[in-house]
Amino acid sequence: MTSGNATMDRPPAPPAADGSGCHAGRDTMLEAARAAGKGEAMARLMADYPRGPHDQPQSMCPAFGALRIGLRMRRTATILSGSACCVYGLSFTSHFYGARRSVGYVPFSSETLVTGQLFEDIRKAVYDSANPDQYDTVVVINLCVPTASGVPLDLLPKQINGVRIIGIDVPGFGVPTHAEAKDVLAGAMLRYARLEAEAGPVARPRDLVEEERRVTLIGELFPADPVGIGALLAPLGLTVAPQLPSREWRDLYGALDCVAAAAVHPFYTATTREFQAAGRPVVGSGPVGVDGTAAWLEAIARVADVPADKLDAAKARLLPAIRGALEANPISARITVSGYEGSELLVARLLIEAGAVVPYVGTAAPRTDWSDPDREWLQARGVHVQYRASLEQDVAAMQDVRPDLALGTTPLVQKAKSLGIPALYFTNMVSARPLFGPAGAGALAGIVAAQTRGTSRFARMVEFFGDVGSGEGAGYGWSDVPKEPAGARDRARRAREARARAAANQAMGG
Ligand code: SF4
Repeated sequence: MTSGNATMDRPPAPPAADGSGCHAGRDTMLEAARAAGKGEAMARLMADYPRGPHDQPQSMCPAFGALRIGLRMRRTATILSGSACCVYGLSFTSHFYGARRSVGYVPFSSETLVTGQLFEDIRKAVYDSANPDQYDTVVVINLCVPTASGVPLDLLPKQINGVRIIGIDVPGFGVPTHAEAKDVLAGAMLRYARLEAEAGPVARPRDLVEEERRVTLIGELFPADPVGIGALLAPLGLTVAPQLPSREWRDLYGALDCVAAAAVHPFYTATTREFQAAGRPVVGSGPVGVDGTAAWLEAIARVADVPADKLDAAKARLLPAIRGALEANPISARITVSGYEGSELLVARLLIEAGAVVPYVGTAAPRTDWSDPDREWLQARGVHVQYRASLEQDVAAMQDVRPDLALGTTPLVQKAKSLGIPALYFTNMVSARPLFGPAGAGALAGIVAAQTRGTSRFARMVEFFGDVGSGEGAGYGWSDVPKEPAGARDRARRAREARARAAANQAMGG
């Protein structure tokens, strides 16, 4: 195997800003990345993943999304380039979530970063990994510091020994959520596959039936959902194509070979762009509840040229079953919904159709065309929809509404429980159930009922624990209110004032 260690003719990468990483400040890191030659890549990320009130990750490192997509794909090696602490956290999290692959890592030091040797080290790692007996694809992910330092992954070879090489920048200061980081890699892989398919014959997707007309679902869905959606599409004469993000390279060709793509999760901006470049129409929202399913089937039928009588027959057959499931599983509760999965608006629609009152939906995802039908439906029913919702906004809404049940992220659930409000973690409890078709219509009622029944238990717990664990009751090792050392506050104040005076003098050249 070629070592590929030749030195490239290019300027050494400037070092990223001091204190770089999550805490260096987004603007500092962005400026460093632009100065290091990443201006175009940063402009693309800014356009695809627009900012909102929460600019920096409030949960896990965003790059986890891209790493997870790489690790879930067969015959794919995923290599990280970044600070050791970031890679430790990312590899820990990926194995916590059941990754069965090794996470590749190219370490760096200040010297290898400044001299450009890091790029040579990455290049060597890619050549060493590109074994066609083991891999179809090698993915390299630049984390914050290598991105801010301009490590040019676009200069890596596009393929080695028939193994595709894909390099992407996924910095926390450019990609706001781990959901959107999934799109960075899914979109890059789909683009590669599209260009391959346009250049000539490609591998035949598994289970391809030539005459079938397929719809590609975009988003990491609960495993039963694609099956359920397939049953909804069948009366229209359509089937489900391999889903994206895919589990195998050749599935990308199968995904592209569709009559329409369905952006069920609405934040896959780069991925939907590739479908549009391939001439495939994209449909937003998803088949939730009666209204959502009817509108979605109509949208699919429109772009897939399904005759009106076939559509009418499908709706007449499918919608009563969904209505029946909703009526059999009514929800009577006031619920706030927040999360970062991208399906928050769909879940809120389903809850409302089942009878719940949902005053607030917050999603970490940005507003895109693909969630517009859901936003409009919800707003027409008086729901406040908050895109790019921060934890503070989600908590404020929950405190304002005092719901019977709060669906949300881990810190929101913690806050809710401390207030005696029943709460459920969206990712584990809501995303782990079917959402679409008749199966989805009945899935949420059970957990909502079980949780809201526990309201009085929560109130008893809050009363029992009182102030324990909060304020001066936090921590352990003392039973009295801690005593402040005499004069400590005055000394700290004088020290702060002296520092401020010194800084002001320095600024004036004194
Ligand atoms: S790669 Fe992730 S953990 Fe590391 S500095 Fe960037 S956002 Fe933070």
